[in-house]
Amino acid sequence: MSKLDEFREIVRKGVPASELTWLGLGGPIEYFALPRSEEELVALLKARAQDGVEARALGDGAGVLVSDVGAPGMAIRLSEKAFCNIDVKSPRVVVGAGAKLSRLATTTASAGLGGLECMAGIPGTVGAAVASNVTTPDAALEQYVESARVVDYSGEVRELSKDEIVFGRRSSNLSSSIVVSVAFKLEPDSPEELARRLQKIWIVRQKFHPELDKGGFARMFRDPRGQRAADLIEEIGLVGAGIGGACVCEADPSLVVAGPNCSSDDVKRLLALVEKQAKERVQIELERELEIW
Ligand SMILES: Cc1cc2nc3c(=O)[nH]c(=O)nc-3n(C[C@H](O)[C@H](O)[C@H](O)COP(=O)(O)OP(=O)(O)OC[C@H]3O[C@@H](n4cnc5c(N)ncnc54)[C@H](O)[C@@H]3O)c2cc1C
Repeated sequence: MSKLDEFREIVRKGVPASELTWLGLGGPIEYFALPRSEEELVALLKARAQDGVEARALGDGAGVLVSDVGAPGMAIRLSEKAFCNIDVKSPRVVVGAGAKLSRLATTTASAGLGGLECMAGIPGTVGAAVASNVTTPDAALEQYVESARVVDYSGEVRELSKDEIVFGRRSSNLSSSIVVSVAFKLEPDSPEELARRLQKIWIVRQKFHPELDKGGFARMFRDPRGQRAADLIEEIGLVGAGIGGACVCEADPSLVVAGPNCSSDDVKRLLALVEKQAKERVQIELERELEIW
């Protein structure tokens, strides 16, 4: 008998990635798990290790493209209630990894805590955002992280202080574990002023991403140093370029849009085309933001 049989209530087999990712593409994920508590997460990780099943964290699926043939192993999503709390004790905030980054931005702003309002409207969960050090022109998450609670893939729980977390440009050492919660220290500010800033940020994002809630798109590349990926793609003339059902978004060329009948393979080929043209025309090696499973 498999160890994973004990987790039937929270593990489903062969769930289409199209239901789990923003692009709405991709074949079945072998196992999809929704643990209900940290204890259950730890037990699940130990059981899957005994069964020799690979595991990885899946947040909202805004930054992941699953291949048309699907992905082996287990995707673990922390979207159950126990992982989505936002606990404000000014100037500190402790947030579950499954909470949406955008909800954190609005909650902290209305509590009169500044710093994260620039993250409003960015898709995804707090766990993925901190692990990848989400960055805007105004701030990077690393500026406000005080500590993180993680469970490593062998099931060991650790509380990491700021000194133990190594942040890089859109990366961190947290990616080798599953982040379960994060403590932030923010800056007290006037709620009215924060509401004004928040509104401004929303207006700008809505202009570029009017379909933000509908899915069907994802960011393709990280911004090269000193430049926006969107500007570079415009410079090499690929705005609106398409392969199969995938095309470069006209409103924001940093995004790939998955149209009707799009396949994961179409997206992969479009990424390769943009990379090739960037290298040939402006000698820039683009770094992928979209992770392929
Ligand atoms: C319209 C749009 C605008 C965007 N704007 C910005 C922006 O301004 N700045 C910016 O930096 N990014 C931006 N992004 C990128 C995007 O928001 C990130 O990719 C996002 O953080 C993904 O979160 P997710 O929860 O969907 O993670 P997923 O896509 O599910 O996962 C992404 C990665 O995080 C890992 N992960 C997920 N959960 C955890 C966890 N709990 N612990 C450890 N690792 C985990 C996964 O294993 C995977 O490697 C934008 C994307 C879009 C589509």
